[in-house]
Amino acid sequence: MTILKEATPVARKEHKCMFCYGTINKGQKYLRQTNVVDGIVGDWVCHQECQSVARELGMYDDCDPDYGLSDEIFNESINQYIYDEHYDSETDDVQAEWQGLTRYQEVCKILNELDKNDSNRNT
Ligand SMILES: [Zn+2]
Repeated sequence: MTILKEATPVARKEHKCMFCYGTINKGQKYLRQTNVVDGIVGDWVCHQECQSVARELGMYDDCDPDYGLSDEIFNESINQYIYDEHYDSETDDVQAEWQGLTRYQEVCKILNELDKNDSNRNT
């Protein structure tokens, strides 16, 4: 996969995030990447947060370099992270505060949490 162009424009209309399938709102900054995959040029559009979380969780490390990171792996990795970090053995389910969120809310929550862990480590 070759990245031809990467930009973070402000959305002038609503877009759909290709990682979490959530809405990128009008006026929200998002990531637009123009890629060549298998000789085909296409645009990849996603939340900045979704890309950050993918980087933070190292998803790019194990994806296929020819095709980049797929939405499938992204969503599996998010599920796995929540399960690993927030599974409650008493209820045999993920903790209540992690239930009923949209994927995008989960992504923001994970980023928050990773930030917090980082600052703990620094002090
Ligand atoms: Zn997203």
